[in-house]
Parts: sequence; structure tokens; C-alpha cells
Amino acid sequence: MTLAPAPALAQTPTKKEPVDCEQVKCIALTFDDGPGKYAGTLLDTLKKYDAKATFFLEGQYVKSRPSYVKRMATEGHELGNHSYSHPDFTKIEPGAIRSEIQKTQDAVKKAAGVEPKLLRPPYGMADLQVSDIAAEFGMPMILWTAGSQDWSSKNVEAIQKQTLAVAKPNSIILMHDWVKQTVDGMPSLIKTLKGKGYHLVTVSDVVKSQDLKPGDIYPVPEGWEK
Ligand SMILES: [Zn+2]
Repeated sequence: MTLAPAPALAQTPTKKEPVDCEQVKCIALTFDDGPGKYAGTLLDTLKKYDAKATFFLEGQYVKSRPSYVKRMATEGHELGNHSYSHPDFTKIEPGAIRSEIQKTQDAVKKAAGVEPKLLRPPYGMADLQVSDIAAEFGMPMILWTAGSQDWSSKNVEAIQKQTLAVAKPNSIILMHDWVKQTVDGMPSLIKTLKGKGYHLVTVSDVVKSQDLKPGDIYPVPEGWEK
């Protein structure tokens, strides 16, 4: 007679073991348009609470604040491409879209030695042409399941309340590291999410089970056909 092994769920994952988001509660906080000027404070907080995040970077700010980008990569966060200067990709020429993506890939590579593997088109705006170009770069497009509305409320309590209201297992939450109140409220928000049993992980951790291919979009927006 042999004893059944202890269920994996009962074990606390060690730092080296990747979190399995099909087994435990995960959430991916994502920060757009940066690195913003409060990115350093945000990185300090994430480090203190051993939380991971995903940064959808804007190439022009990667160029002006490369040291934050280097830190993001070194400290285990995920880096995504959010264009170079934030145009609506559905309103510009294919050549301009390619250039926006490529310039940002190059800037991140120069700053951090790695290249983003995910694309978040500005404003979350994409169409089949944008999808084809994302595929050329080998990247799926990542939108968000819910927003913190931080850019609109700019209020610590409102940002927390909204984020906690929309937080669900495997949520991808849209935030901004240029909003001071988002960064100010992050220690308390992280503590509350952890208290609810969430693991703060990268987008790639959360979408792992989706098996996304280059050019795919996730979550699929209403009315999207391919
Ligand atoms: Zn943006």
C-alpha cells in the first residue's frame, strides 16, 4: 500500500518554481506608457513584496529612462512593447506601425538586453492589419480584462476600490506608472491582493494556458473576427 502524494496545492511555491496559474489564484498587474517618472518607486515596492508585474513600454520613454527598463528586466518583471510614440495603429500606415514596433524593440534591447515578446497596441486598438504585423514580429497582442481607471480617478482609494472590484483569478489589470496615486497606493493594494490569496505574476504566467500564437489577441475584443 502506498500513500498518495500530498496535493501540490498545499505547497507554497518556492521562488525558483514558476507559479501555475491553473492551480493557484494569479493576477497580472500591467503598467502602460512608461517607464513613467514614478517607476523607480514602483519597482522598490514590487521588490519589497516579491511581486511581479508587466510593463508595456513606450519606446520614447525607454530611451529617456533606460535605467528603469534595465531594473525591470533584472528584477524579473516582464517587458512588453506599447509602440514608440503611442499612435492609434488602426489609423497609420503599415510601414509606420512596423517602425513604431521595431524602434521600441531596439530601445528595450539596448536598455535591458532583452526584447519584448508581447505587444499591447496603443489604446488597445487593433485590426487584422495590426494583427498581421504583430505576427511578423512574432508577438501576440495583449489587451486587459479590466482597468483600474487610475488615469481618470487619480485617487488612491478609488484606484484600490476599482482594482479590487474587478480582480478575478487570471485578471490582467490595466494601470499606469505615470499616475502618482497608483504608485503611492501600491503597497496597500499588493498587501490586500495577497491577503485574498493572489499571486502577483507576469502576463505570460497568466496567459500560459491560452497557448497564444503570434498575431493572436487576448482577451478577444467583442466583434473581433479572424
Ligand atoms: Zn497607452
